[in-house]
Amino acid sequence: MAQQEEVFKKLISHCKEYGFVFPSSEIYDGLGAVYDYGQNGVELKNNIKKYWWDSMTLLNENVVGIDSAIFMHPTIWKASGHVDAFNDPLIDNKDSKKRYRADVLIEEQIAKYEDKMNKETEKAAKRFGDAFDEQKFRETNPRVLENEAKKEALHTRFAKALNDGNLEELRQIIIDEEIVCPVSGTKNWTEVRQFNLMFSTEMGSTAEGAAKIYLRPETAQGIFVNFLNVQKSGRMKIPFGIAQIGKAFRNEIVARQFIFRMREFEQMEMQFFVRPGEELTWFEKWKQTRMRWHKALGLGDKKYRFHDHDKLAHYANAATDIEFEMPFGFKEVEGIHSRTDFDLSSHEKFSGKRIQFFDPELNQSYVPYVIETSIGVDRMFLSVLAGSYFEEKLNGGETRVVLKIPPVLAPVKLAVLPLLKKDGLPEKAREIMDNLKFEYHCQYDEKDSIGKRYRRQDAIGTPYCITVDHDSLVDNQVTIRYRDTMKQERVPVAQLEQIISEKLSMKNLLKTIQ
Ligand code: ATP
Repeated sequence: MAQQEEVFKKLISHCKEYGFVFPSSEIYDGLGAVYDYGQNGVELKNNIKKYWWDSMTLLNENVVGIDSAIFMHPTIWKASGHVDAFNDPLIDNKDSKKRYRADVLIEEQIAKYEDKMNKETEKAAKRFGDAFDEQKFRETNPRVLENEAKKEALHTRFAKALNDGNLEELRQIIIDEEIVCPVSGTKNWTEVRQFNLMFSTEMGSTAEGAAKIYLRPETAQGIFVNFLNVQKSGRMKIPFGIAQIGKAFRNEIVARQFIFRMREFEQMEMQFFVRPGEELTWFEKWKQTRMRWHKALGLGDKKYRFHDHDKLAHYANAATDIEFEMPFGFKEVEGIHSRTDFDLSSHEKFSGKRIQFFDPELNQSYVPYVIETSIGVDRMFLSVLAGSYFEEKLNGGETRVVLKIPPVLAPVKLAVLPLLKKDGLPEKAREIMDNLKFEYHCQYDEKDSIGKRYRRQDAIGTPYCITVDHDSLVDNQVTIRYRDTMKQERVPVAQLEQIISEKLSMKNLLKTIQ
């Protein structure tokens, strides 16, 4: 694991050095868990989004896209449950300046009482051997009873405080229980504050009475509230889906692991509306479709797995995550959820509008059920980079760092390199590039030795390098060098496009997952 952590650190600095990801506001010492994408990062990100968008909207006649606003009517977040349930009660230790969830600190204290009771019982079991009657011991031993009473009292007090939303009482519990900060070891606590993960701001001037609105914590609600608009204007019939790519914002408390957990991030979500009762069949179908989408990139099938949820949200009747093996273990990249009719029904209730579909085949109206596929662009970006980053020992002892990014997603597809900066080679190289640049993102580079230039392209994941030499002027042939194998081949300029197009074609990739 330590070695993996080392790789992760290197990947993060590689991202910065080669223009993939920069810490936001870096010259002002950065802003926590907010990142900017650089010149290569934005290309990779756009390619990932295109791959997702095309796979949704081109391969499925019944999936259409939208682009809804980030600001939405505040009642939407009431209906979705985010205002009431996207909350954490937080407390800070004034000495260590560390922030904790108050409920977690108290739960840990309850667990400590349980621990003490268990230890007492284990000790006694050892002492008495076979003759030990655990139930009787637990019912009569004064130390166990004392801890049991403390635990019960704490539990009741805690549950009441949570139910009443009594933050002062939560703090008082922490003081009375003498809970200390694991870092500073002190009991110097601030108040407890309710911390909603949603960012809020105000809309309108104060004189008119500004309304509190939120930066959306997920893109999905923009789809739900447009269900009727899209269904009617697009004459969509169930089953059909609505896809959306857009920014989401969450004030994550413990934000770490680079772009894995950010405060501003991007989601690609698709809500698929189905007949009630058919949702589990569709859930299974989308699960398989989404896994095929991931695996088609060729980063290695073993790097993916499903993680089915044992504990489901109250509105869901099936949920799974697609996890990718990051340098810090298997982690969720995408969630696939069967959300029943929870969202649309809730919006019916809160808006007072009828949000139903008349199914001509059944001759009946109903609130459709929903299968959701929800993937984070940034986590996908991280998985692509983590799966592509290699340090290879070459003959001669040199190490090359190469990003074996799937060619379709690579930020730069082609580097055109004149061997020398003279004798008409740059002009010939420019001529080749001018032919290809309309379709492929090309880079021209004439600086440094050819070996150094190859390394620079390896480091940003360029799948093909084209070298123009003196012979090229005579025979109209160039050397193509392949990133992954480092093999070189002499080919006629006229054949270049055909050679590179196959692997760079989104169409070919999409065909493999259809
Ligand atoms: P986690 O449990 O890791 O916080 P989540 O279950 O809250 O994630 P969802 O609400 O299901 O995540 O969001 C769907 C997808 O959005 C996730 O699979 C992930 O790819 C992405 N995502 C969620 N939160 C973040 C974040 N803070 N930074 C980057 N991506 C995120």
